[in-house]
Amino acid sequence: MKLLEGKVALITGAARGIGKALALRFAAEGADIAITDLVYNDAMAETINEIAAFGTRVKGYASDASDFAATEAVVAEIVKDFGRIDVLVNNAGITRDGLMMRMTEAQWDSVITVNLKSTFNFIHAVTPVMMRQRSGSIISMSSVVGVHGNAGQCNYAASKAGMIGLTKSIAQEIGSRGIRANIIAPGFILTDMTLQLPEEVRAEWAKRIPLRRGGTPDDIAGVALFLASDLSSYVSGQVIQVDGGMAM
Ligand code: NAD
Repeated sequence: MKLLEGKVALITGAARGIGKALALRFAAEGADIAITDLVYNDAMAETINEIAAFGTRVKGYASDASDFAATEAVVAEIVKDFGRIDVLVNNAGITRDGLMMRMTEAQWDSVITVNLKSTFNFIHAVTPVMMRQRSGSIISMSSVVGVHGNAGQCNYAASKAGMIGLTKSIAQEIGSRGIRANIIAPGFILTDMTLQLPEEVRAEWAKRIPLRRGGTPDDIAGVALFLASDLSSYVSGQVIQVDGGMAM
């Protein structure tokens, strides 16, 4: 029996990067997959094709995760299409880096809204569904930066730390309904988000990592699979750093 057989997983911001890797890994373990991203573009279509190759049901939805009303609507559509939601992964996220002194209000607002408010939006919309099922696993993609801070990323660090506080609170609120909520805090993972950084910055990061390499989206997918499946049936309210030992 595959680890996610019979389960439906909803992953936000999954047209590419870490979200896509999770979708593929979950599909390989038998889950039906709903993915969202800002727009339904070629990347989304390609991801859907790759997921479909595993023989599971998959559908993509264009939806802005930071929009409360749009999130309520897309979750209702997903429940209509799939009948249930067993796993929610809050993965959609952005960076708008800058030192505090130079950070604009727009940089602050956009990162807090896309990273943190979106997590609230989806948890708020999906929780009633999971409560009716009396089971569910909620995984939110924070960052080591949300635990340890990072110069030049105060907006991002605040948004990712906020996701941790939100997760620990709802783990306490809805644990009695059989719903678990956990955080993955990736370190330096090689995706479009980090490939924007100059080569020398990436080399500098690698030196700080005991395993001496950047992580891959698949490194994150393995931990997400653990948290999504019943292998982690007694794990809730936890922050799991997946960073090659970078921040201990
Ligand atoms: P990415 O930029 O490759 O992918 C992010 C996806 O989210 C994109 O497909 C993007 O279109 C989508 N997205 C952005 N805003 C959205 C919105 N408002 N609504 C819906 N979708 C939206 O990034 P990634 O590296 O795959 O990162 C995925 C998550 O992991 C993010 O939350 C990121 O903060 C977190 N993370 C990444 C790293 C890393 O090193 N790459 C480290 C720590 C945490």
